[in-house]
Amino acid sequence: MSKVVIVGAGMAGFSAALQLRRLGIEFILLDKKGEPGGLIPNAWRIENYIGFEGTGFELQDRMREKSIKYGIEVLKRKVTDVFFADERINLVTDDGNFSTEYAVLAPGTENRKLPSLWPGEDILNGVTTLKDKSGKKIGVIGGGEAGCDHALFLADRNCEVEIFLRGSNPKCSGDLYNNVKSRKNIRFVENFIPSKIFVSENKKYIVSGYSGCDNFQKEFDFLINATGRVSRLAMFDIIPSTGVVTERQGLYVAGDARLGSLGQLGIAAGDGLECAIKIFGDIIKCR
Ligand SMILES: Cc1cc2nc3c(=O)[nH]c(=O)nc-3n(C[C@H](O)[C@H](O)[C@H](O)COP(=O)(O)OP(=O)(O)OC[C@H]3O[C@@H](n4cnc5c(N)ncnc54)[C@H](O)[C@@H]3O)c2cc1C
Repeated sequence: MSKVVIVGAGMAGFSAALQLRRLGIEFILLDKKGEPGGLIPNAWRIENYIGFEGTGFELQDRMREKSIKYGIEVLKRKVTDVFFADERINLVTDDGNFSTEYAVLAPGTENRKLPSLWPGEDILNGVTTLKDKSGKKIGVIGGGEAGCDHALFLADRNCEVEIFLRGSNPKCSGDLYNNVKSRKNIRFVENFIPSKIFVSENKKYIVSGYSGCDNFQKEFDFLINATGRVSRLAMFDIIPSTGVVTERQGLYVAGDARLGSLGQLGIAAGDGLECAIKIFGDIIKCR
């Protein structure tokens, strides 16, 4: 039985695992995808994470290299419930249960659910599956940081991208804004109000609605939902805390799961480190 179970092998969970390895504490790292990286491979270009500059795929490769070098195994398990009994933390998964003294929950965020006029699961939540698709027509719903980042990722692959905006301008920051505005193969549908979105018989995504006073219907090869992200902690009935410590002895939360859509890589990495150091401190105090 391991003393520590980590849920999620994104930046937060992986950083906790790496630090626990350095500190000589045994742990089990669970991730529903069974590989490190989490959201990272979706990032078009990472510039604010000191010590690294490159694409999300390149940073994920670094994590894979580290997992081999430091023997960090990612067990493919989806955690479906977390409960407390006999002063232990119990984690229910799709393939067996775990009981532990310490747990780090770092399951990140999920896309905001869309109204019923959208074709549900058919809409993509990210861009990783489109990495080899060039020349496609792609609609991105939402012009915030993620929507603009996705548009640039696809524009670099010679796709024709249209971003659907609620207002008249993308809501992303400085460089991203200038970059997205300067690309010829990224266009905007301003003041967008959807009326119907569906998949046609020939597997095209049809978006109809209003832009200002005009009615329109557009057809895409793929459609991406970038309307915002919410913490996955709610599914475990755990309220995000202001720091990594929770009211439950031994239970920690880290990364985007704690911060919601405000998360950044540096914060996720810092959270993971802090969890590991706090757990180590507690273990040696009890020795
Ligand atoms: C398009 C885009 C671009 C970005 N660009 C930047 C950037 O340039 N710079 C920057 O600092 N940040 C950027 N970010 C934000 C950054 O990617 C995140 O802050 C960071 O990756 C969050 O790490 P995390 O470990 O908290 O969560 P995640 O990366 O979401 O990892 C969570 C992990 O938990 C796993 N998981 C979820 N539920 C379960 C479950 N029930 N059981 C088991 N496993 C589970 C998931 O499979 C996933 O691997 C970007 C984000 C996006 C979407």
